[in-house]
Amino acid sequence: MARTLVETVDLKKAYITGAGSLEVLHGVDFRLEEGEFAAVMGPSGSGKSTFMNILGCLDTATSGAYRLLGEPVSSLSADELAGKRNRFLGFVFQGYNLLPKSDLLENVALPLLYARVPAAERRERALEQLERVGLGPFARRLPGQVSGGQQQRAAVARALVGDPDLILADEPTGNLDSQTSDEIMGLFMSLNDKGASIILVTHEPDVAACAKRLVRFHDGLLVQDGPVVDRRAL
Ligand code: ADP
Ligand code: MG
Repeated sequence: MARTLVETVDLKKAYITGAGSLEVLHGVDFRLEEGEFAAVMGPSGSGKSTFMNILGCLDTATSGAYRLLGEPVSSLSADELAGKRNRFLGFVFQGYNLLPKSDLLENVALPLLYARVPAAERRERALEQLERVGLGPFARRLPGQVSGGQQQRAAVARALVGDPDLILADEPTGNLDSQTSDEIMGLFMSLNDKGASIILVTHEPDVAACAKRLVRFHDGLLVQDGPVVDRRAL
């Protein structure tokens, strides 16, 4: 049986604003097993990023339970959350988030530096991941010297380098033209075919259609959750 990677029960999140407390997640129940590829859709402001940030241990819920690989994370300290991120998770963001003055190899190796992997092994593993995403020949280029699609490929390589149990991607094709977006989605699909577990936020139906499961948010609630069967219905 597949392991449960993520489980949330009645997850709520409120932000403290100048106008008081604003609840933006109203009780989300969600479960993801190893090997799944879930797309998260929903209108702007519906709570997708808030939910992903909590799953990614970048933020904590106000109430409810979140278990990552069976362990409760709701009450962990910032340091402990950082440890979970390093050990279990890989992130891909809309804006690539590469360090502009570091070359692609150094960027991809960065999570291993935080994990205190020795330098020679860092280089070897980073190069391996760059080759996996087709960027071997570009390892010594700076982010500004390659295309947006190549930068996002490098960001995927960086997400993979720590051998994460789960990849979280928030609008990873949001800055890309449709052909480059197709390329990146092809990469996510082939990673999932090889066993990677992925949760990916998008508001593009064509992108969501690449996943196997579709989750939809509306006004801070999970309102739909099921397999992707008919892409025209998205
Ligand atoms: P989505 O990713 O679906 O567009 P978000 O999770 O970013 O939605 O935002 C959900 C709601 O929470 C929005 O109303 C947004 O304005 C609000 N919000 C997000 N982050 C914060 C924050 N740090 N402080 C206050 N409100 C926030
Ligand atoms: Mg968002």
